[in-house]
Amino acid sequence: MRFETGAIHFGQSSDPATGAISVPVYQTSTYQQEAIGKHKGYEYSRTGNPTRAALENVLAFLEGGKYGLAFASGLAATTAVINLLQSGDHVVIGDDVYGGTYRLFEKIFKRWGLETSYVDVNSPAAFEKEIRKNTRLIWIETPTNPLLKIVDIKCLAGIARAKKILFAVDNTFASSYFQQPLKLGADIVVHSTTKYISGHSDVIGGVVVTNNAQVYHDIKFYQNAAGAVPGPWDCWLTLRGIKTLSIRMREHERNALYIARHLAKHSAVDKVFYPGLPDHPQHALAKKQMTGFGGMLSIELKGGLPAVEKFVSGLKVFMLAESLGAVESLVCYPPKMTHASLLDEERQKRGIKDNLVRLSIGIEDKKDLLEDLNHALVKAL
Ligand SMILES: *Cc1c(COP(=O)(O)O)cnc(C)c1O
Repeated sequence: MRFETGAIHFGQSSDPATGAISVPVYQTSTYQQEAIGKHKGYEYSRTGNPTRAALENVLAFLEGGKYGLAFASGLAATTAVINLLQSGDHVVIGDDVYGGTYRLFEKIFKRWGLETSYVDVNSPAAFEKEIRKNTRLIWIETPTNPLLKIVDIKCLAGIARAKKILFAVDNTFASSYFQQPLKLGADIVVHSTTKYISGHSDVIGGVVVTNNAQVYHDIKFYQNAAGAVPGPWDCWLTLRGIKTLSIRMREHERNALYIARHLAKHSAVDKVFYPGLPDHPQHALAKKQMTGFGGMLSIELKGGLPAVEKFVSGLKVFMLAESLGAVESLVCYPPKMTHASLLDEERQKRGIKDNLVRLSIGIEDKKDLLEDLNHALVKAL
């Protein structure tokens, strides 16, 4: 089965009891057992739920993986992966990751004795150099948030394999449609399904996908033992979103490319970060490891924070909000929103300047989006 067909059908055959085409929302906490120890595979909905199982199976399929495990949020999925580790273990992390991922490592897991190092995502040698005796995991995101850097998945997978450590990729920005890290050698893929996977700004969720039976076994144990599972309604909303993932992604990309090209020529814009532009530093790598460039782009405005404030307040179609990857276009100011948990100095070090604005390009008419941006940019000048 190919991607588009699987997104609609994989693991989602009609309901055996009624013939219902849509996977039912199994809104139940528990399941009647025929006799002690005799049941239909479901005992309690923290452990397993048929709506969640359908979601887990299709997400594994979309990543080209064997096993999927759904969680109540992207960060709950990340937490599950980190729980493969123990106190005293060390993780090498790309230096441009989601602010909440950074906060999770630094404010939660450090207290439990986890060691972390952050390295330049565009230097595989830096990853290799940071690997210590107690390193158990390499964690990256690509494209990165918010600077849209592209990280060489195949190269890092080779390093991780040689050193026998796990390699996890947060694939939220590309979505499974444009990038499949397991096929490039990653051991684990994580998504915030809140974003492109569900795609309609109406649900929070996360997933871990892997081909590694031991990793699956351990994370499944953790999922049940720690309990951060999504409810059946949230699973169903995500399943519904997945059916249109491919057509949404194509539109997101088409609009983003159109807007990136125009903004690159705009006199109020200093810099455009979009991997689909030929002058992006890792454009060639993006072409090699992705099948599309996605719908996220960032810009640096001329004029600093006052210009950013005027720009944001001048927008009418783009809405100022956290999050990304949904049908509606959103604008976000990383220094005060998604990356507020970083200290100023950390932010500067990572190249997140005070004039940086992130745009999640939706699937509205691209001309309306460009008109909206142009109108607001005039105000920012
Ligand atoms: C949003 C996001 C997360 C966190 O996911 P939640 O669903 O908000 O918990 C992790 N990684 C990336 C890249 C994200 O954009």
